[in-house]
Amino acid sequence: MFRRAGQLQFASSLFRYPAAAPSRHYSFEVFRDVPPLRQLRRDLLLSKRTVGLVPTMGALHDGHLSLIRQAASENTDVFVSIFVNPTQFGVNEDLSSYPRTWDADIAKLEQLNDELKSGNSGSITAILAPTPKTMYPTLPPSSEINGDGSFVTITPLAKKLEGASRPVFFRGVATVCMKLFNIVGAERVYFGQKDVQQTVVIKRMVKDFHLDTEVKIGPTMREVDGLALSSRNVYLGARRRKVGLVLFSALKAAESAYQSGKLARSDILGPSNDITRDVLSQQQSLSPAERVTFEVDYISLADPDTLEEVETIDPAKGAILSGAIKMAPLEKTNAGEDCGLGDGKVAVRLIDNLILKPVSE
Ligand code: AMP
Repeated sequence: MFRRAGQLQFASSLFRYPAAAPSRHYSFEVFRDVPPLRQLRRDLLLSKRTVGLVPTMGALHDGHLSLIRQAASENTDVFVSIFVNPTQFGVNEDLSSYPRTWDADIAKLEQLNDELKSGNSGSITAILAPTPKTMYPTLPPSSEINGDGSFVTITPLAKKLEGASRPVFFRGVATVCMKLFNIVGAERVYFGQKDVQQTVVIKRMVKDFHLDTEVKIGPTMREVDGLALSSRNVYLGARRRKVGLVLFSALKAAESAYQSGKLARSDILGPSNDITRDVLSQQQSLSPAERVTFEVDYISLADPDTLEEVETIDPAKGAILSGAIKMAPLEKTNAGEDCGLGDGKVAVRLIDNLILKPVSE
C-alpha cells in the first residue's frame, strides 16, 4: 500500500524486514507475530518466570544495551521489541530514512546474550520484530493530526516540548507502547532517561489505564565528551557532531547554576541561552564549507510530573531541564570529509535532558 494523502506508507521497501532466519540459529527466539509469543509468555508465567520488556526501534547502540542489561538484572527473561513505528512519524518526518540495521542489531544482541548467560542475571529470551500489518491490523493508520485509527492520546503531556513541534509523536508512541504492553504482558517495561518526556507520558499512560506493569527508567548513555547516544547520530558526520555538543553544554551550564543554589528560571536558563547564542554566532562567522548551523527548538525548565514550565524551581520537587536543537544540513561539503550517513544532507534533530534532583533541606 502506498501513501494516499496523510496515510502511512506500508510499501515493503520502507519496511525491509529480512526473511525470518530460523530462530534456532539464535540464542533467543524471533517472533514476527503475536500468538506464538503469547504462548511462550504463558509458559513463562506458569514457570513463575518474570519478563522485562525493552521497546526499541532498532539501530541498537549502548543506550539500548544498557536498558537490556538492567532488564536482565531484574527479570529472568528479557523481551526486546524492534519495530520502527510509523505512527510516531509525522507526514514530513524521516520514517523512510530512519536507520534499519537488522543484522548488526541481532549480532549485538547475540553478543550481549553471551555476556548475560555467562553471568548471574536473566537473559534475552525473545525478540519481537512484527510487521506494520501485525501491529496495525485494521488500517494503515493515519499520521495526520485528525486522521483515523485506534490511538492512545495522553494530553496535555503529549502537546508539550517535543509534542509542540511533532504533534503526532506521542500519540504514536503511546499507541505502539499500549500494543506492545498488551502483547507481552511484561512485569516491567524499560525506557531510557534520554527521552524524558516519553518516560513521563508512559508513566501517565500506565497509571491512567491501570496497566499492570512497572515502568523502569535507565540512565542516559553518552559518548565520552557527553553527547547522548542516539540512533540518529549516524547522520551527523564529524563537523555537525562536534557542534551538536552545544546542547549538552547548554544543559550542563543550567545544571551548574541550579547546583550553585539558583532557583529562578532566568538564572538557570540564562547561561544555557548564552552558550547556544555564542556557538551559533561563532559558526555563522565561518565560511559555508566550515560552518554548521542549527536552530534551538526549545530549552525547557519544567515540572517533573506535569511538564509545565516553571518560573521558580521548588527545591523539594526539582525540575526537568531539557532541550532540542535541529542541526541543518551542511551547506557545503569538502572532498574526503566525514559527513555521516546521507552525506550531510539530512537535517538532524538532537534532544537531551538533565534531571535537576530535589534538594533535601
Ligand atoms: P529508540 O530505539 O530510539 O526508540 O529507543 C529505545 C529506548 O532506548 C527508549 O526507551 C530510549 O529512551 C532508550 N534510549 C535511547 N537512547 C538512549 C541513551 N543514549 N541512553 C539510554 N537509553 C536510551
